[in-house]
Amino acid sequence: MSLSLIAKSIKPSPTLALNEKFAILKEKGDPVIHLGGGEPKTRVPMEAIMATVAHVNTGEVRYAPADGIPALKQAIIRYTEEFYDRKVTPQHIIASGGAKQALMVALQAILNPQEEVIFPAPYWVSYPDMARLIGAIPVPASPEDGTFYPRLKDIEDRVGSYTKAVIINSPNNPSGAMYSEEFISDVVQFCEKKDIWLIMDDIYHRLIFDGRKPINALKYAKKQDENSKLIIINGVSKQYAMTGFRIGWAVGNKKVISAMSNIQGHQTSGPSVLLQKAAVGALNGIQSSVEALRVTLENNRNVMIALLNSFEGVKVTKPDGTFYCFADFSVYNKSSNALSAFLIDKVQVLTVPGAEFGLEGYLRLSYCGSIKDIQDGIERMKWALDPNSPNELYIGDRKLVRDWS
Ligand code: PMP
Repeated sequence: MSLSLIAKSIKPSPTLALNEKFAILKEKGDPVIHLGGGEPKTRVPMEAIMATVAHVNTGEVRYAPADGIPALKQAIIRYTEEFYDRKVTPQHIIASGGAKQALMVALQAILNPQEEVIFPAPYWVSYPDMARLIGAIPVPASPEDGTFYPRLKDIEDRVGSYTKAVIINSPNNPSGAMYSEEFISDVVQFCEKKDIWLIMDDIYHRLIFDGRKPINALKYAKKQDENSKLIIINGVSKQYAMTGFRIGWAVGNKKVISAMSNIQGHQTSGPSVLLQKAAVGALNGIQSSVEALRVTLENNRNVMIALLNSFEGVKVTKPDGTFYCFADFSVYNKSSNALSAFLIDKVQVLTVPGAEFGLEGYLRLSYCGSIKDIQDGIERMKWALDPNSPNELYIGDRKLVRDWS
C-alpha cells in the first residue's frame, strides 16, 4: 500500500498498545496486573466534574477559540505565576489536547525537516516519533556516566549546525530522575547562548518526593522578553489524575504561541470546550488532591523500591518523582522486549520494555496503581525469574507451574 514515508516511519505508541493488551486480558478474565500504566487511579477533582456537567447542562456545546477559552488561560496565568513566578498574558498561552498535542504543535512550529531535536535518554517514548512526524531528526543523549542524570556535556556534545531544539523532561518518564537545579540552569543558559529552543516538559513537576520543590527553568533565563526561546509544557493529566480529559498547555513567546495556535486551529480547532471547563475546575479548585496523590505515590515508590532491592540481580535507582521506576533487569535477559513478553505470557504482569525509552535491558515499572498490585506484581516477577523459586505459584485459585528454567 502506498502509505507516506512519514506514516511508515512511525511506530504505534507502546504504552497505549499495552493498555489495550491489558483491557483484552482483563476482559478474558485473566488475573493480569498492569505495572506498565501511565496514569494515577485517584478520582478526578470534584470541581472538574461539576464544571463539565454545568456546561453540558446548558445544552450549548460549541466551537471554542483554537488556542483555548479565556477562563482556562486565566487559570494557566495564575498557575504560571504560582509555579514559575512569571506574569504572562493570554497571548503567551495555548491550551491543547493534552501536553502531547502542546508538544507536537510546539515541535511543528519550530522544526524544519532534517533539523534535529536533542533529548536525554532514557526519554519519553513519544519524543522520537513526534520528531519523525515532521520529518525532523530525534537525537537521544545518553548520559556518558551511565546514570539517569545528564550533564550539560551530554547535550553539548550532540549540538551541531542542524540542532534546533532541546527537550528536557524532569522529573523524567521513565527513570523518575529529577535533574538538579544546576543542570537546568546550565541547559537554559547554554540554549540561550546557542540560540536554540528549549522545551521543558514539566508534566510531572509537582509529583516529586523526599521534600523536593518543583524547579522553575524560567528563573534561569536571561532573555525574559519576546526573544526567549524557552517553552514550558504542562497539563492536568498527571497531577489531577485527568488523563482522559486531554488538556495540556504551553507557555512561550507570543510569536511561537501564535504559530502553534494557527497549526492547532487547522489540526483540531482546539480541545473540547467541555474538557477545558474541567481543567479550569481542577486548576481553580481545592488543591488538596494533588498533595494527596503525591504522598500516595511517594509511599508506593517506597514499597516498590524495597521490593526491588530484595530482587537479586535487579539494579534500581530510587526515583525522585513521577510514578515510574526504571530498573535494570539485564541480568535476566538482555532483550527488554523479550523479557516483557515473557512476564506477560508466564505471570500476566505488564511492564514496558526499556528499549522503547532508548535503554535496553531495563523495564519501566509503574507505581501509580494499588500497593497490592505492586506487591503481587513483583512477587510474580520474582517467581518467574528466580530459578530457585518453588515450582508452583497460586494466583487466586489458579495454579501456575514453572515449565521453564
Ligand atoms: N510528557 C510526558 C513525559 C509524559 O509522560 C506524558 C504522558 N505519558 C505526556 C507528556 C503527555 O501527557 P498528556 O496526557 O497531557 O498528553
